[in-house]
Amino acid sequence: MRYYSTRGGAKTVTASEAVLKGLAPDGGLYAPAETIKPYSEINLPGGSYREIAKAIFSRFLGNYSPFEISHTVDSAYNEATFDHPSVTPLAQPADQLNILELWHGPTSAFKDIALQALPHLLIAAAQKSGDDRETVILTATSGDTGKSALEGFRDVPGFKIVVYFPEKGVSEIQKLQMTTQEGKNVYVVAVRGNFDHTQSGVKQIFSDRDLTLRLEKAGYRFSSANSINWGRLLPQIVYYFYAYGQLLSRAEIREGEKINFIVPTGNFGNILAGYYARRMGLPVNRLICAANRNNVLSDFINSGIYDKNRSLHSTLSPSMDILVSSNLERLLFEITGHDSERIAFWMKELNEKGRYSIDRETLRELQDLFWSDYADDQETQDTITETFREYNYLLDPHTAVGKNVFTKYLERENDRHRGVILATASPYKFTGSTIRALFESNLYKEHSELELIKILALETGTAVPKNLAELEDKPVLHRQVVDPAEMPEHLQKMLINHRE
Ligand SMILES: *Cc1c(COP(=O)(O)O)cnc(C)c1O
Repeated sequence: MRYYSTRGGAKTVTASEAVLKGLAPDGGLYAPAETIKPYSEINLPGGSYREIAKAIFSRFLGNYSPFEISHTVDSAYNEATFDHPSVTPLAQPADQLNILELWHGPTSAFKDIALQALPHLLIAAAQKSGDDRETVILTATSGDTGKSALEGFRDVPGFKIVVYFPEKGVSEIQKLQMTTQEGKNVYVVAVRGNFDHTQSGVKQIFSDRDLTLRLEKAGYRFSSANSINWGRLLPQIVYYFYAYGQLLSRAEIREGEKINFIVPTGNFGNILAGYYARRMGLPVNRLICAANRNNVLSDFINSGIYDKNRSLHSTLSPSMDILVSSNLERLLFEITGHDSERIAFWMKELNEKGRYSIDRETLRELQDLFWSDYADDQETQDTITETFREYNYLLDPHTAVGKNVFTKYLERENDRHRGVILATASPYKFTGSTIRALFESNLYKEHSELELIKILALETGTAVPKNLAELEDKPVLHRQVVDPAEMPEHLQKMLINHRE
């Protein structure tokens, strides 16, 4: 399988080049350049997570050797990295309620699934390219990605990982997860400002030619662990197949029976992986895109107009507080039959006017496959409360958005295909919001989030993921705080001094 840019202005590359580059030189995203063949060799009902992963990875990673693929999968998904033998277990708290738990990885959020695999895909890609410089991964995070990337890249030979987070823009638990990070090659830096300031600081580093040259001289090259990298999308296709296999082996569905997936969505990476699973022939009826109050995507899917000219709201599901869903570009490329001219035009409109509108035919195609609505914070809280009361099952706020939107779908559409809700975070990762939804909101006002973890466990009789239970005993190892403007200078000092 080879890859080319959604905007048509870059040459076709191999899988490892696509992984190494991340973004195409013309600003587009890399997408498969060849027909995606239906699966036939994948043993669904009997296959383990790792077997299915190897079959799917091989399909898309043409120039990786079988050894490199096995090594990547075995290193990413094992008893040391995931706390459940199934990797992504399918929970069934009630009849007709299927929840695919994607949060059993080292940081309790679904981004672990991709970020445990990406470093290994990058190492092999760097070896193939003959570039033996040390790679510095730079990441700006609003919470979940940073910690997942730190765990994925810690102590990986040939890499340094630098994570910037907004000093006051992440939860107490997320901050502690990052500032207690161990590893010889990790750097964690707080930035004075919000996520936008943090992200512009990182962009400034990437575009600083002088800095790049100086660091290149010192033997470094830059990369990002961005969610538009094909190497992050690919690992996410696997769990759609795995979930289907689980339903088959429990005799919940018949071979070939279509099902729906409900995906709490932000950057459109997770749900796009579901689209590729469907393109490979997985019997998917609808992909239900669940948004929060930042409902750009549900407006788009319902009207064909993408309009980011609106203010960003902070919600209880912060990992979905996004106005530009970058992976959507890949979907449009696919459903227009790889019409890179149209894609380049829409993206230019988005860039210049903050808005674009797709043609009727593309909209029809989109609505055939996708359905979307959103849940506000009140609905999110109510869903957490009701689900716990009725089924004794605890949802985090992101997954609660998914469940709420699924309920709306069932009320409005006459569709009785089975649905699987993707659970993107452990409720313990967002303890404050979860506990305030369950109990009177004033009750636990004075407690720190670490105390709340224990209270939530006691009150609900659920288990705390190990990585979060251990947080309070870990020493804080990273205390640096910088202004956004100082970031390039600070990075240079950090990397070059460290080397001396
Ligand atoms: C990143 C994230 C999402 C959104 O996923 P996308 O792939 O960006 O659509 C949803 N929930 C949680 C908990 C996340 O960390």
